[in-house]
Amino acid sequence: MQELWTIGRILKWTEQFFKEKGIESPRLDAEVLLSHILGRERIYLYVHFDEPLEPAELARYRDAIKQRVQRVPVAYIIGEKEFMGLTFKVTADTLVPRPDTEILVQAAVERLRARGETPRFADIGTGSGAICLSILHFLPKAQADTVDISPAARAIAEENAAALEVADRVTFHTGDLLAPLAGQCYDAILSNPPYIPDGDIAALAPEVRLKEPRTALAGGKDGLDFYRRLTADAPALLKDGGFLAVEVGIHQAAPVAALAVPAFSRTEILKDYAGIERVVIAWK
Ligand code: SAM
Ligand code: GLN
Repeated sequence: MQELWTIGRILKWTEQFFKEKGIESPRLDAEVLLSHILGRERIYLYVHFDEPLEPAELARYRDAIKQRVQRVPVAYIIGEKEFMGLTFKVTADTLVPRPDTEILVQAAVERLRARGETPRFADIGTGSGAICLSILHFLPKAQADTVDISPAARAIAEENAAALEVADRVTFHTGDLLAPLAGQCYDAILSNPPYIPDGDIAALAPEVRLKEPRTALAGGKDGLDFYRRLTADAPALLKDGGFLAVEVGIHQAAPVAALAVPAFSRTEILKDYAGIERVVIAWK
């Protein structure tokens, strides 16, 4: 007799399978993948444990499970990630937006708001557009330029801008850091650049090391290559009283603030939810 795969039973099986394969959050991943395939909220699963899956749903779930044990991040399997309460399309060409990056967004929103109704900012290394587009969502009169070296990431960010209905307030550029923005003037320049030191890449989780774009991660020997260039070049593109705000990796805040000292008047360091220094702000 064929076994009947109900929601409750397959979740239990998948949780166990993921656990055996060393997946970090086995139950949550099993639920997120299944609710995505069923086109339902996660809560639906809990009140329909006895509902059997259709053969087509089961086939799609099996495929998702296979990808997950090959360490494909959940966000790439379902094709989206929530950030700042908004949904961003993501693919293997874009870094998966991290919750820690919300610290940078919140800090930038507060400080941009204080600079008037219609602030202009740039987001360097925009990836999926998470930073830039969420700020445009929360500041309905702000205008932005974004730069990414990856044309494939830019295409995803453009799709996200359209979906979030902010496309009319953002201009996308493909190129190297600040180069495409020569001659512009901003209230703020924001960036979550690649910052993993070369020697630390081998120790990253397989999901990050094997599946996320290397150009989104590798920050040179000490991880600070992009900060050297941004702190040197950003002041020329900032209005008086404007600021550069960057996300940094662990133990990088003090050295990055030190890089900013010669060209900026004042720096701030903000911590993330885990108490790690995560954002450096340098005021022109
Ligand atoms: N801003 C997104 C976020 O926070 O989720 C993505 C950040 S990801 C850590 C860094 C991004 O910088 C990647 O999208 C990568 O393609 C881009 N990048 C790498 N080198 C670059 C360069 N020289 N100029 C512009 N962008 C670059
Ligand atoms: N926060 C990412 C990680 O820990 C790295 C992103 C970056 O280099 N900016 O994997």
